[in-house]
Amino acid sequence: CGLFGIFAPEQDVSQLTYFGLYALQHRGQESAGIAVSDGRKIQLHKGMGLVSDVFSEEIIESLQGRMAIGHVRYSTTGSSLLTNAQPLVVHFQKGMLALAHNGNLTNAIELREDLNNQGAVFQTTIDSEVILNLIARYYRKSLEDAIIKTMIDIKGAYALVVMAENKVIGVRDPYGIRPLCIGVLDGRYCFASESSALDTIGAEFVRDVQPGEVVTLDENGISSRIGSQASAPAYCSFEYIYFARPDSTLDNINVWESRYQMGVELARECPVDADVVIPIPDSGTPAAIGYAHERGLPIEEGLLKNRYVGRTFIQPTQEMREIAVRIKLNANARVLKGKRVVMIDDSIVRGTTSSKLVEMVKSKGAKEVHLLISSPPVCHSCFYGIDTAEREKLIANKMDIEGIRQFVGADTLYYLSEEGLKRAIGNVPACLACFNGKYPVQVPKDFSKSGLE
Ligand code: 5GP
Ligand code: SF4
Ligand code: MG
Repeated sequence: CGLFGIFAPEQDVSQLTYFGLYALQHRGQESAGIAVSDGRKIQLHKGMGLVSDVFSEEIIESLQGRMAIGHVRYSTTGSSLLTNAQPLVVHFQKGMLALAHNGNLTNAIELREDLNNQGAVFQTTIDSEVILNLIARYYRKSLEDAIIKTMIDIKGAYALVVMAENKVIGVRDPYGIRPLCIGVLDGRYCFASESSALDTIGAEFVRDVQPGEVVTLDENGISSRIGSQASAPAYCSFEYIYFARPDSTLDNINVWESRYQMGVELARECPVDADVVIPIPDSGTPAAIGYAHERGLPIEEGLLKNRYVGRTFIQPTQEMREIAVRIKLNANARVLKGKRVVMIDDSIVRGTTSSKLVEMVKSKGAKEVHLLISSPPVCHSCFYGIDTAEREKLIANKMDIEGIRQFVGADTLYYLSEEGLKRAIGNVPACLACFNGKYPVQVPKDFSKSGLE
């Protein structure tokens, strides 16, 4: 999911939030929402679909206020339904509260059972509502105190933007698994999941929210407290590999640069003889450029992308996924015919994309196809907010590398080593659990996306 939040009474905050969400659309296409506060009440508009589908000019204009938070969703818990769209807004004895969440709690089921036993009522089937419920429950005098108390109860990954009538608060979990950064625009502050959203609205990057930090934006500017901090951060490495925009910088590492370096590392680890390098656009492109530069090979557009398709992975069924690959990409015979091709992608999850593309590239006359992947095999599920699928569906969990090579039909299949990946992301302290199974936060034994339904 993608988050945006801003406190700026002089600005058109709903408009800025709209543009901020637009810049974060790649982080979720299922639903979008904006909550605005005028200092007394909170107004909310949300809907299913893309930011541009959910909001019209009239709707944005009707959302007048001094501060706002926004969310784009792709579901990792709870179905893709309007009731599960965010921000969530509640009325309680202290007023109104709005919350938007990126990530996944690992103890949401237990927490919700406890709350249910104490008489709480839930309207959604998402873990984020548990957070909102706890905050409202703990709220006495200070919202920050309530959030810090909540942070003790909740486990897992969460970046949050929370809004009361007079302030916007940004929070990152103790490990900083999901990203969140701070920007400044004309002396007022804002939050965004990625720095590229700050560029979009013309804000200047200030810094990342630190793991475990609770940052408040209000009439007095910006202030911060540390809630709960782990001994070391565990930034999600998959943000760098695939999820984040390449023009974002997360926790001081530029995403494009890290992808380029993944390609450079791949070239050192696996220098195959070839005539041409082709990226699988868009996510494989920076690594392919890094590989080609490092090897001194030409890089060409062997696969062309239809710009009007969203991320294939996010289509919920397998059938849809297979068709979606062909809707999204087509092979370009002009650069493939008779060539030994190095094809580079960022990751293989189920193997749908790679097998379709190898077949496509060969059918357009490529002599050899060497498939290089700029991350290690994904063998484990993510419980922290990236939908890398259940373990049984991960091809690297079912087959060894030779088996996968045969399945996708490539002449070579090579995955970047974990060491190479770590170097490429500047050795930031990172979560690599989907590759090596070392989960920084304990994961539930029987997790399912519909656990709260
Ligand atoms: P597959 O077709 O093997 O299931 O998925 C791999 C392809 O999906 C890659 O091209 C990768 O860029 C893309 N992809 C899209 N969304 C995701 C996601 O959330 N996780 C992963 N691992 N890959 C994704
Ligand atoms: Fe990111 Fe993988 Fe860790 Fe999930 S398990 S947070 S996708 S690195
Ligand atoms: Mg891709």
